[in-house]
Amino acid sequence: MSVSENLAAVRERIARAARAAGRDPADVRLVAVSKTFPVAAVRQAAAAGQVDFGENRVQEAFGKMDELSGDAGGGAGATDLGVRWHLIGHLQSNKARKAAARFACIQSIDRLEILEAVDRASVASQSRPELLVQVDLAGEVTKFGAKPSAVPAIFDAARRLVAARVVGLMVLPPFLDDPEAARPFFRQLRDLRRELAASGVPDSMLRELSMGMSRDLDVAVSEGATIVRVGTAIFGTRHV
Ligand SMILES: *Cc1c(COP(=O)(O)O)cnc(C)c1O
Repeated sequence: MSVSENLAAVRERIARAARAAGRDPADVRLVAVSKTFPVAAVRQAAAAGQVDFGENRVQEAFGKMDELSGDAGGGAGATDLGVRWHLIGHLQSNKARKAAARFACIQSIDRLEILEAVDRASVASQSRPELLVQVDLAGEVTKFGAKPSAVPAIFDAARRLVAARVVGLMVLPPFLDDPEAARPFFRQLRDLRRELAASGVPDSMLRELSMGMSRDLDVAVSEGATIVRVGTAIFGTRHV
């Protein structure tokens, strides 16, 4: 199967799951996770109409951005192909500056300091990245993400941002073979959004729920995902 055929199949899965849940398929954005794959794969997907791409390492993403745009200086996450880059992996403070300048969306905001560092860097680079707060619902010590109890304080601070904008929540559940096993995590993320809204967080800051991957995107869409992050089902098995 080619990248474009795989993309069509993933879009069909999203559409079917959305319709079954009484949702508009257009309300679910597909982020194609190109980590470990060469820029040729990104070009193939972009040629098939894919706009949003996800990478989990800053340096790897920058390499692809540079190759794609032929512009080593970089822009605000946009390139000649009109691609929008999402950072979906952990962001270290020392990379906040560059990340804020070049990613359209940073989905891995997991602590106050990185929120504030990204905002300062966005002011400096005159960028306006969208940010998602990554929540660690499994309580796994090895996983990144803010503890649910720390999330309200992050949203409080998010109201004071100058350039960057928090637009929602992201979760990466523990690896589970059965897609249904991820459903409780997706529900918890949706419940957390409802609680934050009830506590006065504006809807504009809670627009997105980024949840669901190749294995469980159908379940995530049925639970209200507005962004799904899909790698394997589009580009194939990763060998690194
Ligand atoms: C790799 C990755 C994905 C994509 O996973 P697949 O199972 O290949 O679809 C999604 N989200 C995050 C945070 C990832 O690191």
